Amino acid sequence: MAHKQFMKKKPVPQNSLKDNEPLKKMTPKKSSKKPQLLRGMKDILPQEQPYWEYVQESAQQASRAYGYQRIEVPVLEEYQLFARTVGESSDIVSKEMYDFETPGGDHVALRPEFTAGICRAFIEHGMKNIPQPVKLWTDGPLFRYDRPQAGRYRQLHQVDWEIIGSHQPAIDAELISLGSHLLGDLGLEVMARVNSIGCRECRPAYIAVLKEYFKTHKKNLCEDCKNRLLKNPLRVLDCKEEACQAIAAEAPQIVDHLCEACREHFMKVLEYLDEGDVVYHLHPRLVRGLDYYSHTVFEFYLQKDQEEASPAALLGGGRYDYLIQDLGGPGETPAVGMAMGIERVILAIKEAGVPVAQPPTPDVFLAQIGETARKRALQLFEDLRQAEIAVAANISKNGLSDQLSLANKSQAKITLILGQKEMIDNTIIARDMENGSQETILQTKLIDFLKKQLKK
Ligand code: AMP
Repeated sequence: MAHKQFMKKKPVPQNSLKDNEPLKKMTPKKSSKKPQLLRGMKDILPQEQPYWEYVQESAQQASRAYGYQRIEVPVLEEYQLFARTVGESSDIVSKEMYDFETPGGDHVALRPEFTAGICRAFIEHGMKNIPQPVKLWTDGPLFRYDRPQAGRYRQLHQVDWEIIGSHQPAIDAELISLGSHLLGDLGLEVMARVNSIGCRECRPAYIAVLKEYFKTHKKNLCEDCKNRLLKNPLRVLDCKEEACQAIAAEAPQIVDHLCEACREHFMKVLEYLDEGDVVYHLHPRLVRGLDYYSHTVFEFYLQKDQEEASPAALLGGGRYDYLIQDLGGPGETPAVGMAMGIERVILAIKEAGVPVAQPPTPDVFLAQIGETARKRALQLFEDLRQAEIAVAANISKNGLSDQLSLANKSQAKITLILGQKEMIDNTIIARDMENGSQETILQTKLIDFLKKQLKK
């Protein structure tokens, strides 16, 4: 069941709220405390933006190059969508969902991941009827009520890719290759861990073997794993507790229990990967924390972290051949997807000292002295912008020395000075910021003059 903290239980009859009825507001308690950022949330301040732009623009370019189309799905969905796909027993649904009841009686949740919403959209918009596979990508915020720590937030951001409508193992390899190349292009040395968790035919038999094995070690497992043993024994394999890891290291491996079709699929994926330059390792204990996966699963880590017992993944994904059908969509719609954590990637980029482009500096700074000049400057700024001249100004300032020091800081090549006298003469002063020389130019000739000067 969902996290109690978020369930606002109210005795509201189903669909009692008419479409045009306003939402009832909670009466705020009076408090003199300053409002504070919620735990696990993060403001992304202007100085952080170059990193975000770098990652988001690189992701967009790679997505286009690999033939993905952008999709956007709502932040809020039916709670059941996630319960049915990610799984009631998964940590994400059982402990980490921000879910609540609307005044209309609907049980809704802030999305904790993208795949479920994208698959709902795939079904609702009849995308099975367009040429398959359908390759979709998106990015945005997700919400998980997780324990906050370095690189783990309650509002996190991911870039997500889904390929829906193909069972071809080459598609799994293409997706893994995109992950590897994008992270490499971002300046990170990464390697993938790859595994197969089989299908609905062969996994139950493996789980039975695994259960037997873990039962013999039950007293040494952590409390969470004792629970997992009942609900989802596969998850014991990737428990972060040292004692559980030692037990899991000796556990029977799923690769030895795959059916013929799963083994063949997995072998093909590995063959395709071997043809490329993706650095990967087989990792028999990789299972991933969401219930909908089948066949291939993978995660990417920094190469420098690979010796760590539980390195933080930058990106994770896998196949989910049953999800669309389980949601009531058309049968036989196999799919594969992955998501990259933007915060974690930015952390890694900073640690690795990857140089990131800063916002461009203006070529021209426009300074004004006096009220009439300020009025003219507003229009002149717009004229320069339309002429595609990179111009900056601070129209709130009056004094020239203040504006010259701003111009210096902005690294503009030329500062334009518009004062009382220039307003009368219809001229403007252009000051070369490198050598301090000044010229007076007719305002009507200004754009031509600047274009020539800036070409030099
Ligand atoms: P998942 O959707 O759990 O497979 O996660 C995919 C990627 O998202 C991970 O590899 C991380 O990079 C990132 N991620 C997952 N959970 C968090 C979180 N709570 N805070 C920040 N990043 C996260």
